[in-house]
Amino acid sequence: MATATGQIECEGCGLLQGAPAVGPGESAHCGRCNQRLYHGVANSIDRALALTIAALILLAIANTFLFMVFEFKGRSEANRILTGVVGLWRLGYTPLSLLVGFASIFAPAFYLSGMLLVLVPVKLGRSPGYLGPLFRWLGALRPWSMLEVYLLGAFVAIVKLGQLASIELDLAFYAFAGLILVSTASYASLDARQVWSAIPLPRSPSGGGGARASDAVACSTCGLLSHLPHGAAESARCPRCQGRLHGRKPHSLQRTWALVIAASVLYIPANYYPVLIIEVLGKKEPNTILGGVEELISSGMWEIGTLVFIASIAVPMLKLVGLSLLMISVHWRWNWRPHDRAVLYRVIEYIGRWSMIDMFMTSILVALVQLGALATIDPGVGATCFGAVVVLTMFAASGFDPRLVWDALEESDG
Ligand SMILES: [Zn+2]
Ligand SMILES: [Zn+2]
Repeated sequence: MATATGQIECEGCGLLQGAPAVGPGESAHCGRCNQRLYHGVANSIDRALALTIAALILLAIANTFLFMVFEFKGRSEANRILTGVVGLWRLGYTPLSLLVGFASIFAPAFYLSGMLLVLVPVKLGRSPGYLGPLFRWLGALRPWSMLEVYLLGAFVAIVKLGQLASIELDLAFYAFAGLILVSTASYASLDARQVWSAIPLPRSPSGGGGARASDAVACSTCGLLSHLPHGAAESARCPRCQGRLHGRKPHSLQRTWALVIAASVLYIPANYYPVLIIEVLGKKEPNTILGGVEELISSGMWEIGTLVFIASIAVPMLKLVGLSLLMISVHWRWNWRPHDRAVLYRVIEYIGRWSMIDMFMTSILVALVQLGALATIDPGVGATCFGAVVVLTMFAASGFDPRLVWDALEESDG
């Protein structure tokens, strides 16, 4: 299943290396930076297809039925996942509502239906023209589908409300939990190389002919190696997935710096202004992120308090400091600990989405607790700023090109 040349470029460090065959359950790792290159799965397409269909059914149930019911002094309020999104919209928090709706409903729905459109033709041995571009687009969409983060946000909301009133979980909640398991399994059983290899390639238009001054450029999405005339790479597109070909992500440092600086500026109001305004029996209590953590810890729920502290305060800070450190190290061409820096980047890329816990919790609380004079929870300005920090840092992490860390080493090695 290796590419025609039998070579693959590591997306973590850019090293071009031989692609060994792997059996089911085995993975191939980069010989230099240890990034996982691909993994082998038995009956990958069949499994991924069956699990995707199951996930779509659970998604439909999770978004149709009630999620949970909240009862306070004889009054009750039930919500669906969409209720929180609509609630934020009605209160004028449009960007936050769009972000929560996209990450909890639309991105998972687009991702799973897109996967169905990819896997069915591959299973049938067909290759419609949209296959490559759609599969590339789905890869970019996946980090924005934040089902498991939403569930953790719901969990924190339940714990917070548990102090105030009684909560009952409903059918959609259990379907949602099942959806996370099934969609995670579906992703884990997909061997992307099998989808890519199902797409026929146009017969090498530029590789042959004895063109001597050609650059081998690996597509950063599908891994296909293209041989292009010297200097032509910046304007070319990959013949398989139609993604733009470039040796390194264009203007990586400038873009990442701009996003990191913007996120650092917004990090201040995100922590200074309240993210939630809780009003119970006429007593108004604005909650900042740190205030919410303190409250959880002082009421004895230090585990949840620690979790929120890590997700909402430590993770954004680590991302901003970590990305700045990586960019400074690349700018000054440091040779210092490239393996540790590669791990740092992978950690930053992985943890970014978990900061959304607080935003999801806010949307659930806002949807459930609208009992007029009895009890009301509204979002605060801090929530919008915090949502912007999460989005900007996610774009910053994906804009940084980790291969730059290794480029400096290659240069100094001569
Ligand atoms: Zn590598
Ligand atoms: Zn490609």
